Amino acid sequence: MIYSDFKGLKLSRLGFGCMRFASGSDGEIDQAKVNTMFDLAVEKGVNYFDTAYPYLGGKSEIAMAEALKKYPRESYYIADKFPGHSINQPIDNIKLFHLALKKCNTDYFDFYLLHNVNEWSVQKYESDEYHIIPDMLKMKEEGKIRHLGFSFHGGCELLEKFLDDHEGMFDFVQIQLNYLDWSLQDAKRKYEILTERGIGVWVMEPCRGGKLAVLNEENHAKLAALNPNASDASYAFRFLCGLPNVKVILSGMNEVSQVEDNLNTFETEKPLSEEERNTLFEIAEGMKKGVPCTACRYCCEGCPVQLDIPYLLSCYNDFKYAVSAVSSMRLDGLSKDKLPSACIGCGQCTHACPQSIDVPKALAELSEMYAKGPKWQDTAKGRSAAIVDDLSRAGSE
Ligand code: SF4
Ligand code: SF4
Repeated sequence: MIYSDFKGLKLSRLGFGCMRFASGSDGEIDQAKVNTMFDLAVEKGVNYFDTAYPYLGGKSEIAMAEALKKYPRESYYIADKFPGHSINQPIDNIKLFHLALKKCNTDYFDFYLLHNVNEWSVQKYESDEYHIIPDMLKMKEEGKIRHLGFSFHGGCELLEKFLDDHEGMFDFVQIQLNYLDWSLQDAKRKYEILTERGIGVWVMEPCRGGKLAVLNEENHAKLAALNPNASDASYAFRFLCGLPNVKVILSGMNEVSQVEDNLNTFETEKPLSEEERNTLFEIAEGMKKGVPCTACRYCCEGCPVQLDIPYLLSCYNDFKYAVSAVSSMRLDGLSKDKLPSACIGCGQCTHACPQSIDVPKALAELSEMYAKGPKWQDTAKGRSAAIVDDLSRAGSE
């Protein structure tokens, strides 16, 4: 197993993501299978396990704890997350934190994250009324959180601002990083922002929700020509292993064969050759959907309604992959006059754009997808009610 050094800890670079445990036909977690996968991973040196309060309807934390209970607590690291993106009213944060400790069968978290900071949820995380950050700092002071971080789904501007506003507070940040998002969703810049500040990078979506793990026939053939025995996923992981500030790469494994393949990839360092790296970028270019905005901002100054055009185009690119509540959440955080529907179609931006992007057309399409798609606010409403229920049940136990 390849390990990374992080503040005196030796972390397995392959982290076990606990959000996709196999479910039986009844939708329940197959605990025996989870145990088998964990045993295999532990045997080969994996020592990092990542869960979150809402994963698998609240059952992920419990299944993870069950699979780990036979191992000494000091032999592994667990990460859990505070679901600030899933609440729409102030709650008893400390009580929820203790409930998570109980579900994970532990009295401390090695790593604890503010879950899914983005342009919408940041308002909750920073709200005096919600009081989330001060409460989490209190937990850290009491030793119940060893390292505090956050997972991030927003744009570069918010990332920089959030880090500036909370300087020195966070030890690590989890971002969506893979060879497709490296240029498509500014992941390269996010990696640089964190590295420049000496903050460790944790990776989620290393295979972009499985898209890079099973490539189409044409792209798979390109990789198979380099090495017929290597899986498509192994290339995605090796790309990330070549980034020195990437400390942990999370893979949401749900099959024993997947665990075995990943363990094989992470057994030793296997740096990509120049040819392999170029092939990955060539594949990424071919996979890109949406518009090739480079976020140069040449179009922004002349926009009569002062829209953040590159930000909106980045949301547009997200929507081109999936119209979902998750892709809508970055727009949910904008005021009405900054939404794509505020574009008056003057075309100034297209003239200014070195990539000749038809911005008004993309914004009109984005506006339509956003209007028709599910809203994160609605998802959060349901989740928030469930969390309040959990807390009230916990209070009466
Ligand atoms: S077309 Fe829309 S986005 Fe472009 S400058 Fe005009 S108002 Fe702004
Ligand atoms: S000028 Fe073109 S590439 Fe630059 S930010 Fe605007 S839309 Fe993107």
